[in-house]
Amino acid sequence: MPPLPSIIAIDGPVASGKSSIGRRLAERLGYLFFDTGLMYRAVTYLALRDHVPLDDDEAVALYALRTHVDIRPPTVDDGRDCTVLAEGDEDITWELRSKEVEDNVSRVAAIPEVRRILTSRMRQVGLRGRIVMVGRDVGSVIVPEADFKIFLTASVEARARRRFEETQARGENRSYEEILANLRERDRIDSSRQTAPLRRAPDAYLLDTTVLDIAGVVATIERLIADYTK
Ligand code: C5P
Repeated sequence: MPPLPSIIAIDGPVASGKSSIGRRLAERLGYLFFDTGLMYRAVTYLALRDHVPLDDDEAVALYALRTHVDIRPPTVDDGRDCTVLAEGDEDITWELRSKEVEDNVSRVAAIPEVRRILTSRMRQVGLRGRIVMVGRDVGSVIVPEADFKIFLTASVEARARRRFEETQARGENRSYEEILANLRERDRIDSSRQTAPLRRAPDAYLLDTTVLDIAGVVATIERLIADYTK
């Protein structure tokens, strides 16, 4: 019987359920959970705060190279999936969910040099193994040798509804229409960028989560893993 897969890659579009599903799966397997989108969000947030012009690719890439971001297991029980620290000790976890970050992150993630820098950092973490990594290009670019890959999809309306419910639960005042428009725009940028566009790796299992809840998706993935280890 082959052992459990050591690197589990979960990719998919915005709000397809990657983080909640990946985190739950990692907990059940006793694996590290690593949400790669947080690295792009962290660079975007910090660059905005430090007034780096986001339309200057070189300036943003240099900034990414100099900036140290740490992703750790949650340090506070407040609904977060990970704790994100800047320069060793500044907790920026919730700042990464702001509208300003959401409106700019796909642009930052489309800069090839930024992707090269962050991909190499993510890859180093991934290759340690016993990890569930979620993102857009984990199985296709970051760790193509991952032994188990899932690609999640869901209709854009179902995804917007989920994000809307999350923001309501956090007491944020954002409309469903605004979130839907933001998702459509990020889908467009993520799928059409030249470097590592959002695309399913040919060896990834495709799972549509439009009508499945998180527990249903996790159970399906666990069945697939059980088949894999047979
Ligand atoms: O998954 P999340 O919405 O947090 O990701 C934020 C943004 O980071 C995405 O919209 C995408 O542009 C980018 N991203 C990426 N590659 C990854 C993870 C995220 O381009 N592996």
